[in-house]
Amino acid sequence: MSGSTQRRGSLERLRTGNRRAVTGLLATEGPLSRADLARGTGLSRTTVSSLVRDLIESGHVVETEDRGTPYKGGSGRPPLLVRLATPSGGVAGVDVGHRHVRVAVADRSGAILAEAETAVDVDAHGAGALDEAAKMVRAMARKAEIPMTDLQAVGMCVPAPIDRRSAQISSGILPGWRDLVPSEELERRLKIPVVADNDANLGALAELHHGAGHGTSDVIYVKVASGLGAGIILGGRLHRGTTGIAGEIGHVQLHEDGRVCRCGNRGCLETEASAPRLLSLLRPAYDDDLTTERVLELDLLGDAGVRRVLSDAGRTIGRALADLCNSLNPEMIVMGGSLGSSPAMVEGIRASLDRYAQPATAAAVRVVSGQLGDRAEVVGAVALAVARVGAI
Ligand SMILES: [Zn+2]
Repeated sequence: MSGSTQRRGSLERLRTGNRRAVTGLLATEGPLSRADLARGTGLSRTTVSSLVRDLIESGHVVETEDRGTPYKGGSGRPPLLVRLATPSGGVAGVDVGHRHVRVAVADRSGAILAEAETAVDVDAHGAGALDEAAKMVRAMARKAEIPMTDLQAVGMCVPAPIDRRSAQISSGILPGWRDLVPSEELERRLKIPVVADNDANLGALAELHHGAGHGTSDVIYVKVASGLGAGIILGGRLHRGTTGIAGEIGHVQLHEDGRVCRCGNRGCLETEASAPRLLSLLRPAYDDDLTTERVLELDLLGDAGVRRVLSDAGRTIGRALADLCNSLNPEMIVMGGSLGSSPAMVEGIRASLDRYAQPATAAAVRVVSGQLGDRAEVVGAVALAVARVGAI
């Protein structure tokens, strides 16, 4: 690469950064004059004027009818204000769980306008689940009064790791999905660009932008549901790893000769602490129809047996998280999934971190329940779609 090409590259990066500073300030403050923008971003008036001219030309910013107050209370003509243009059209988020499909249609800012969920046996019937998802996207777009031709991207959540290179599900976790590329399959059905990621990564994005992790930048989101996995946010960005499968803490090995895991190894954390395993431990003492919802209710009522099992599971998960915390030094662990909001589990994790992570690391990390519950993945899928079309 020549010196001048490098210089052009770094100038372009600088300009992109400055453009983001301007649009970021307009997004948080609302309409502002060019002088306000210069003060708020620390950029020169000339730079701001030139950036605003470009942003108006590209349709990202518009001048408003309103005028602000003259600079420094002077008696001159009040300045024109500029604001972010409201982009037309919308996006969709699709959350494919092991047993459900949830779909949301949102405007371009990510505000959800219509949302629905249907029970589907997703694991066994990959193609059927995708047909249902496509049907629901059309129905929710109709409900949100956004024509399908105005939907600009779909974010999709898949409950299994996706290989970044092939976009294929990179394990045998979903038997009915073998040889399917989920994003391509949904794209073929909808004729709209589809971006896919796994459930723990999207839950992490959702809690970071719209939930418990708001305002933090180093967060581990742990999903305890049919499976067990983590989404890792480092420096405010999702860390996907070289092939997209970072955060698979459910497959940390606990016992060499333990239960056979669906990943093919033995004694994985998931075989000890996922929701199906915990339900099977509790059922003999409670009810054959015991559900995760009922388990959470019993936890909140202080039921001793349920609290013991969830707290032990939290300790087991916390043992694996302590090692991860020693390596990554996160600010927060957000617990999600059907059993993640359990207070007993959160307490168990806290106890293991205090016992097994180095003291300074344990003191720096908070453990909290997620705020978005079972909507985390669909909110994350919408955020992924917004990021896909919203980059300026
Ligand atoms: Zn495993």
